[in-house]
This record gives sequence, C-alpha cells and structure tokens, in this order.
Amino acid sequence: MPKPKAPATAYNPAGVSPSRRRRNKIAIRLWSVRNARFFEWFYTHFANAFLGLHPLLKRIGYQRAEAPVKFVERNVKGFLFDCRMCGQCVLSSTGMSCPMNCPKQLRNGPCGGVRANGNCEVEPDMPCVWVQAFQGSERMKGGDRIMTVQKPVDQSWRETSSWLRVTAEDAAKREAARQAQGSEAAR
Ligand code: SF4
Repeated sequence: MPKPKAPATAYNPAGVSPSRRRRNKIAIRLWSVRNARFFEWFYTHFANAFLGLHPLLKRIGYQRAEAPVKFVERNVKGFLFDCRMCGQCVLSSTGMSCPMNCPKQLRNGPCGGVRANGNCEVEPDMPCVWVQAFQGSERMKGGDRIMTVQKPVDQSWRETSSWLRVTAEDAAKREAARQAQGSEAAR
C-alpha cells in the first residue's frame, strides 16, 4: 500500500536552501576563494610560525593545547571558509574552498551534477564548492595541488585541530630529516 502523503503545513521557510545555509556564509566563502592567493601566502607563513611553537607545544603538551587552539581554529576558519572541522584540512589543495561544504562531502570533485550556471545540483542556490575550488586554485601559486587525489575523510579526526596535527607531523618530519643528516655526517 502506498504511503500516505505528509499533510501540507502553513510553515514554508523562505530564502533558505535545503540545508539552511546562510547566504552571508556563502558570500564570505566566495570572498575567501577570490583571495586564495593571499590565503596561500598567509597560510605558508602561519604554518611556519606554528612550527616554531613546536617546542613550547611539546612542553605544554599537545593535548592540553588542543582545546584553546581548536576554539580559535573553529572560529577563524568557520568564519572565513565555513569550516566543518574535519580535522584533515585540504584548503591549500582546493583553492581555499572547503570540500566539506559539498552536500555530498566529496574530497575529489566536482561530481557530474554541476548545473549549467556552476551551481550545485543538491543546493541550486549555492555555487558548486568544486567549481569554486578550481577557480581558487587558478589564483594560487601551488594551484596544481588540486590534481592530487585526496584520501577519503577519516571520521576519527573529526572535531580535532588540523593546525596541531600538521604542526606535529611537520615537526616529526623535520626531526627525522635532522637525524638522517646527523647519521650521514657521522659516517
Ligand atoms: S577541509 Fe576540513 S579542516 Fe579544512 S576548512 Fe574544510 S572542514 Fe575545515
């Protein structure tokens, strides 16, 4: 037996897309993509500065630093990129357009459903996150990183700080390189 249709209600939300994204959030996201070159430059310097804090972070304990760093990361990136705190940031490979805003959460895109006007098939009033990613990448020096195939999201990293993870990883790589150089010199 077919399911009865849900009764129509008097409440019909206006001016919102299916997932109720706020228009100003999208506008700021698009502005960030237009300024992808600046954010790329800024992020490089910011990441280096953060790496410089590694000894301090290690002394304090990365875990203790997590809450305050996460708070700042969530608010800054939330404002600029509508960040969803996936914990494995790929903004520098996606033209500063966060792929977690794709309703399908594709880490490699676009899908085949982009509309002729460049908008999303799921949210017709939202520019496709991946079309934006390619446009942002064209403005960046390292824009060809968008051609790197991204791994699926590891959900166990959700709600964690990408900044801290990248800093710890870079510090470990730097340490390993130093040790390799040291053992090379000792030979
Ligand atoms: S890729 Fe992940 S960490 Fe980066 S802005 Fe998007 S949700 Fe946030």
